[in-house]
Amino acid sequence: MDLIEVMKRFPDQDACILHLENVRWNGEAECPHCGSKDVYKRIHETETGRIGRWNCQECKATFKVTAGTVFHGTKIALQKWFLAISLMLNAKKSLSSHQLARDLKLNQKTAWSMMHKIRAEMATKGNVLLEGIIEADETYIGGKPRKRNKKEDREPIKRGRGTNKDAIIGLVQRGGKVVAKLTDNLTGRAILDFIKKHVKMNESELMTDEFRSYQRVGKEMKHRVINHQEQYVDGDVHTNTIEGFWSLLKRAWYGQHHHYKTAYTPLYVAEACYKYNYRDNDNVFDKFISESMILT
Ligand SMILES: [Zn+2]
Repeated sequence: MDLIEVMKRFPDQDACILHLENVRWNGEAECPHCGSKDVYKRIHETETGRIGRWNCQECKATFKVTAGTVFHGTKIALQKWFLAISLMLNAKKSLSSHQLARDLKLNQKTAWSMMHKIRAEMATKGNVLLEGIIEADETYIGGKPRKRNKKEDREPIKRGRGTNKDAIIGLVQRGGKVVAKLTDNLTGRAILDFIKKHVKMNESELMTDEFRSYQRVGKEMKHRVINHQEQYVDGDVHTNTIEGFWSLLKRAWYGQHHHYKTAYTPLYVAEACYKYNYRDNDNVFDKFISESMILT
């Protein structure tokens, strides 16, 4: 959904609140503290900005539809949140907090904090299960750029050692979803655990390069290896899909976020995965809003 649509559908705070209430409660509001449905909405107190507040008859608490969600306790207009979500989802590369701050007339720190909350929400949707042809690979981002030298290229098992970059491991189902995470452990055991968690191993075939850690996985599922010293594609044996995802992630990273601390890397990875996984979903904005109202 683009900005014009967001503004049309949600012209003011009331419209946003009403939408969130419909999505969260579907007409039957519930106290988030005690679960009682014996609740009523207080009349608008727009002068104080305290609209959308509810009272619980049971436990006497007051609450809002945003309680416990990504919008919890915010003082920013919900329309700005909705616009921020839309802008982030539509940004092909990624969006800087400076850009968002300019677009929505926020200060940069506020924009930055909103974006991280939105990314954290995206990160909760990373528990995907893949099947079919799966490509696995790792990449490195952050830290100081470091060129791989020829010697390292000849010795792929040394990959990752001696680098001060963050290692990311990823799995992608061809024509499907991706899952990726920051890791400091690229041993065969750790990679196997990651694959077990996210892949239906009996129904899948794994494609990797010749990195030694994947040999461990090869004992437990169908596994084909492309030897990158010789060629990059051998029929359907290649890792081009996951490499395409890495280039998206890196463009976002080096275009916008490279000067931030690597502590936030998992959130940027989560954003890239989320956008990749819902790239063909025209209603990803509504999906994001609805899912952010489901509290587990
Ligand atoms: Zn209650």
